[in-house]
Formats: sequence, structure tokens, C-alpha cells
Amino acid sequence: MSKNLKPICLLIITMALGLLSGCQKNVDTANRTEEILGTIITGTVYGAMTEAELSAALDSAFLRAVELENIFSAKTSDSELTKVNETAYTAPVRISDELYLVLERSLYYAELSNGAFDPTLGKLITLWGIGTETAAIPAADSLSAYINRHNYKNVILNEDDQSVAFINDEFSLDLGAIAKGYVADEMKRILVEEYGIESALLNLGGNVITIGSKTDGSPWNIGIADPDEPTSSIVSIQITNQTVVTSGNYERYIEEDGVRYHHIIDGGTGYPANNGLVSTTIITDKSIDADALSTATYVLGLDASMELIESLDNVEAIFITDEGEILTTSGISEKVKVLSGE
Ligand code: AMP
Ligand code: MG
Repeated sequence: MSKNLKPICLLIITMALGLLSGCQKNVDTANRTEEILGTIITGTVYGAMTEAELSAALDSAFLRAVELENIFSAKTSDSELTKVNETAYTAPVRISDELYLVLERSLYYAELSNGAFDPTLGKLITLWGIGTETAAIPAADSLSAYINRHNYKNVILNEDDQSVAFINDEFSLDLGAIAKGYVADEMKRILVEEYGIESALLNLGGNVITIGSKTDGSPWNIGIADPDEPTSSIVSIQITNQTVVTSGNYERYIEEDGVRYHHIIDGGTGYPANNGLVSTTIITDKSIDADALSTATYVLGLDASMELIESLDNVEAIFITDEGEILTTSGISEKVKVLSGE
């Protein structure tokens, strides 16, 4: 049975709203919820503007998310990504600025994580179908037909004509582990640059991005889902103007014979990643980075992930192991509160 993140989104938003109850009198608020890119997106903006002005800002931000869905969706037949998947192995395809940027970052994180994050796992991801109606454990022969065909090094980007080409037709692109992060950054950019919003919270199915602080100047409190009880928070983290992105084994999965098969695939085995972690959270400035790294660290497992994140400037992480242990990187321990029993 697949699950979606609605309860978790609601929980995080409810926490944030509850903490905002002391906001100043002249500050108005507007909020919106829509399903875009297969995820529930909720936005709440605050400011010394009329509600109509705040709503107009949200309109633009959500419109941008729909525009980007038409580029990145691997599921709709007329998205730009689908067209690239259909033709890039025959000849280079000129692509939009947005797709080029996200592909460039994808290849960067694929290299950085030694292929743990790999945008070329599309065929394997479609075979498993986790999160769709047809999700099932693939038969051994179909799995072996798809395994080891992915390789991010077979995607060639050419900056001169802004094109992408595939070296062969053995793989397809899936940007599900990074696109939402980019969408979050773009929604934030529009709210800040085009509408002057100084305080807002956006939640894209558990990927949270904030603008500024709460209207009383205090940091946002973001709850991280308890993997065993995803409608409750297990940890809360204080942030200002940053993003918090979690990958977890409870987000989309099927269960068979008591084994959970979730949506994050380990390209090395062809199976859902099973390296000792059940939840990885990245805290940094840009959601595109946090999204790619949350998936990469989930696949890498605790030790390699700790080392990777500690080596990066201004990036922090919270890991939850399959034993229920909660570990954080050194720069964030003081901002993390464990909410045992809540
Ligand atoms: P996230 O929830 O950000 O960790 O992203 C998971 C989604 O990214 C899945 O639903 C797939 O579409 C895709 N995906 C799964 N495994 C990987 C992987 N190892 N590298 C890159 N993308 C992946
Ligand atoms: Mg991700």
C-alpha cells in the first residue's frame, strides 16, 4: 500500500502556525494548498500587506511550480523531461535553462556521492513503480534486465548549445530526488524578489523552505517526522531563512511478507536502499542542494554520509538509523530538539 505525505505536511504546518500565534497586529497572512508534481504543496506568507497582495504573491509562486512541473515530471507524456528521455539517445536535444541547471546539479551530486544519487535510474524506478498504482516487487529477470544500465556519466551536457545527449538508450532520467528542491527555491525566489516577502513557510510534501524568520523575529520550528509514526514529529529543528529536506522510508512504499520496499533505490543492488538509515534530513540554504543530498545520504548510509556532510560548508544533517538512533552533524546539535514521546 502506498502512502502520501499529507498528514506530515499538515503536522509541520500546524506546528509552525501554532508557534506564530504571537505575531504582530498589522501583519496579515495568506495561505494556499495545491497538488503539484505529485506532491501536496502548502504555502503560508506573512507581511505588512493586504491579504489580496499576499494572495497575489502566492498565486505567482504556485504558477511557477506548475510551469516547472511541465518541465520535470517523469510521469506526464508531454513534459520536457519525457521528450528528452524519448529522443536524447538519438541526437543532442536543446533544453530549457531550468532543465539544464537541474541536470548540471544532478550530475554534480552524482559525482560527489559516487553515484549514490543518480539521475539515470529512471528505468529501474519505473520498474518498481513505488508510489504508483502498479507498485510491485519486480521479477528477478526484469530486474536483471535493468540493473547496471544506469550511469550518470552517460549523460552529456553541452554548455555551448545548452543541449543534453545520452550515450546510449539503456537508461532514462528521473529527477524526482532533486526537482522538488529546485521548485522550492524558485517559489521562494519569486516571493522574495518579485513581491518583497520577508516571512513565509513553504512545504512541498515534507520539503520545507522558509523565508526570513517568524514575524516576531524568532526562528521557525520545523518538525521532522518520526519514521515509525510519520504523523508525529520525533525531532524539531530551529531555522531562519533556510531549508529542511527529509528523505524517509515511510514516504512511499509497499510491504510484502513484512518487508518494506520504499522509493529510494540503491543503484548498486537495484533494490530500495537498505544501508542502516530510515530517515535523512539536510539543512542548508538552497533546497536543490538539500534535496539531492537527502537522497544521496539515504543511499550512502551513516558513516559515509556523516563524512560527506561534514566536508561541506554550511550543510548540516540529521540521520535516524533503523535502530532508532538520532545523530546530527557537529554544526547543528544545539538547534535540534528530540521530542521523545510527543
Ligand atoms: P527523495 O524523496 O528526495 O529522496 O527522492 C526520491 C525519488 O527520487 C524517488 O521517488 C525516485 O523518483 C527518485 N530516486 C530514487 N532513488 C534515487 C537515487 N538513488 N538517486 C536519484 N534519484 C532517485
Ligand atoms: Mg531528495
